[in-house]
Amino acid sequence: MLALIKTSNGIGNIELQEVDIPEISSSEVLIRVRACGICGSDLKIFDDQHPFIPPVVIGHEFSGEIVEVGSEVVNWKVGDRVVSEQHVGACGHCRQCLTGNAFACKFKQAPGYFTDGAFTEFIKVPAWLLHRIPDTLSFEEAAFTEPSAVAVHGVLERTGINPGDTVLVLGCGPIGIAAAKMAQITGASDVIITGLEQDEKARLPKAREIGIDHVVNIQKIDLDKFVNELTNGKGVDVVIELAGALPAIQQAFNLVGPLGRLGIIGQPPTDDVQIPYRQALFKALKVSFSYSSKFSSWEKALSMFERKSLKPTELITHILPLKDWEEGFQLARSGEAVKVVLIP
Ligand SMILES: [Zn+2]
Ligand SMILES: [Zn+2]
Repeated sequence: MLALIKTSNGIGNIELQEVDIPEISSSEVLIRVRACGICGSDLKIFDDQHPFIPPVVIGHEFSGEIVEVGSEVVNWKVGDRVVSEQHVGACGHCRQCLTGNAFACKFKQAPGYFTDGAFTEFIKVPAWLLHRIPDTLSFEEAAFTEPSAVAVHGVLERTGINPGDTVLVLGCGPIGIAAAKMAQITGASDVIITGLEQDEKARLPKAREIGIDHVVNIQKIDLDKFVNELTNGKGVDVVIELAGALPAIQQAFNLVGPLGRLGIIGQPPTDDVQIPYRQALFKALKVSFSYSSKFSSWEKALSMFERKSLKPTELITHILPLKDWEEGFQLARSGEAVKVVLIP
């Protein structure tokens, strides 16, 4: 089968190569991949700015159907349409695993980074990671479950949104737009999403199109002034930081009001980030860092898809065959696309 492989460290070093179909163990299933989305972290792997162990098949936002089940697998059969959590290798015995937080198990080997991923025809995963795709969803839509689960986990499960909250989402990538929509679904009174001039190509217009309350191009509009006017100087109740840029992180602390909540999902380029520590203390902020997702995040994301309160089709702007991955990566990088999905 053809697989998109990061062959070695360094910038680039990604190519389509012929590899063997994986062999499953008794607790695994083999999945025919039907769709796999391009994630910002795939671009970072291209740029050598995200951890991975080469050579590795990249791609992790996938959906597909089961074509083989291991001898010990119960509840799943050939033909089932599935998506899969990312906690391949999680031990099942540590505190994180036992409390439903396998994403933080130190033995986890996420597909597409540390073990072979899904920009290819077949992937094997442990059966306990699977979730069933509702009949009403296409494989392309289902491929958006993973990024949506990341938003559910960071926004709804770790930070929390209450009806009536004013919510500021910094960054308008696919997870940002999904996060803003989820805040609205949960009953936020006003949701603001921000982006840059380059996001006017697709992402900010998309946020306007799907009805996010306030869509702010921060290179045209003064965000501090905008938030001050909207909240009568109080600051927002919740900031979700998804830009991963140092000025945005500063702004997150400045624009959240007293007793506000700050959800941090965006990954900054460096480990050392200066924050207004005393200001955060005297505002009594609640700060939640978040990465990855858990069982409940996936079920909630799929439920929102099924109810059509969150519609992946609105965010998937490009569907390309796997062989055109370079074009797909370019579309994702340039900001001309919201979400690009590759079909192997
Ligand atoms: Zn992703
Ligand atoms: Zn564990």
